[in-house]
Amino acid sequence: MIIEIVPCLSDNYSYVIYEKKTNTVSIVDPAEFEACDKVINKYKKLDFILNTHHHADHVGANLELKKKYSSKVLGYVSDKNRIPGIDILLKENQKQKIGNLEFEVIFIPGHTKGHIAFFFSKEKVAFTGDTLFALGCGRIFEGTHEEMFISLNKIKKLPSDTKIYCGHEYTKSNLNFCLTYDPNNTFLKVREIDIFKKLNSNQPTIPSTLGQEIKTNIFLRCNDPEIRYALGLKDSSELEVFSKLRDLKDSF
Ligand code: ZN
Ligand code: FE
Repeated sequence: MIIEIVPCLSDNYSYVIYEKKTNTVSIVDPAEFEACDKVINKYKKLDFILNTHHHADHVGANLELKKKYSSKVLGYVSDKNRIPGIDILLKENQKQKIGNLEFEVIFIPGHTKGHIAFFFSKEKVAFTGDTLFALGCGRIFEGTHEEMFISLNKIKKLPSDTKIYCGHEYTKSNLNFCLTYDPNNTFLKVREIDIFKKLNSNQPTIPSTLGQEIKTNIFLRCNDPEIRYALGLKDSSELEVFSKLRDLKDSF
């Protein structure tokens, strides 16, 4: 499995996946045609388009790519009327093959009602769209705080060496938020150095690993005593802590 990161628009990432054995080319969340097609053109084909959710900055190039390469579009079943050109309707926990690769559909609503992640268990790779970001989580547009909290906990259960490929380069702003409310986290400080090294040389901060996120992403650390204390939520539930953090981030 070869993954190429394709920067799109101002801060989106699309991902081209190449599988050599069956010469299968796929893309996750094609945001804009030009940038994606520049990469796809090398392969002269595009078999599958995978969408994590229906937002325009994730499905923007679906139709143009499908028209040029006769690709099949895959998306969550309940978003069949919102994902342009959809052909294959995915369900929760479904296993799906793209060439010789197999992924599992993880249903993670919250950002939108039909948001999914693609988890390649053999390769330990997850595409998490706008749900789990490097050091952050997505805004809650269509779902509830509880749904988002449950969705993040589903991702948290994957193997800790799973590589996390998310939908945006929001890492710098997320880092500042984590540093504000989790200032004594030594893992975070180590990660900060690595993040600035990458950003200063114009490299994506993606992928991270789930293990790194669990140690440093404040939205996965709602049970941490220091964070709870700093928020004045020592005796609150994990969901209450998460909700507070999500609201704080909305106006950060
Ligand atoms: Zn989105
Ligand atoms: Fe997005």
